[in-house]
Amino acid sequence: MIETAAIVLHCFDYRETSRIVRLATREVGVVSAIARGARRPKSRFGQGLDLFTSGSAQLVMHPSRDLHTLASFDASRARPLLAGSLRRFGAAAAIGELCLRFGTEATAGVHDALEGGFDRLETADDASVAARALAAGWRIVAELGFAPSLEECALCHRTLGDDEEVRFAHRAGGAVCATCRTLVPGARALPAAARLTLRHWLAGEEAAIPDRGTARAHQRLLREFLEEHLGDGRAFRAFVAWEKLDA
Ligand SMILES: [Zn+2]
Repeated sequence: MIETAAIVLHCFDYRETSRIVRLATREVGVVSAIARGARRPKSRFGQGLDLFTSGSAQLVMHPSRDLHTLASFDASRARPLLAGSLRRFGAAAAIGELCLRFGTEATAGVHDALEGGFDRLETADDASVAARALAAGWRIVAELGFAPSLEECALCHRTLGDDEEVRFAHRAGGAVCATCRTLVPGARALPAAARLTLRHWLAGEEAAIPDRGTARAHQRLLREFLEEHLGDGRAFRAFVAWEKLDA
């Protein structure tokens, strides 16, 4: 049995009385676990297994199986506001999906970035929700250890000027300079302001987005980066749904 801080990222009913949850945990990354009896009226899980809730999980780990047993879950913070607006919910689901897909490498830093990101999303208004979600997403990418190169060209490693207009080449792993861009056809233009915003987000800082068009470009950039990095061909469905909310 292990005890770990955890956040509910997915939950669904299982048979008559149980639920199956996917948890982002601080100690063992993303795990699936069955909460037996969770749907009984006087369940010891109470209302704790709601989506995006943080708490302390006691897990019985089964080394040879993918489905572990959730012995208890003490909720410390429910996040009803995330479900209270379609935009906040869509954004939180997209960030949750990022963790679910990359979560086996989870660390304390990833967990803190997710927790802090959800906290900031809860209080976001419609104008700030995209920027806060993107900040959380890139911070998690940084904590996972595959932040893109933005201060130097990913190919020739020349230091890029702050005002330099560059391209973002997913396959190359970040920004590429004017000389190298011919080597990566199809790379998207990355304006200097957008590159600076990305650097703030990767460093765990907030940065506003000026308009919806810029927000959409940032959403697409992050999704394509994740798809390229994971490379398993599976779509990021929650992420795509989030992009469509504001399209
Ligand atoms: Zn270069």
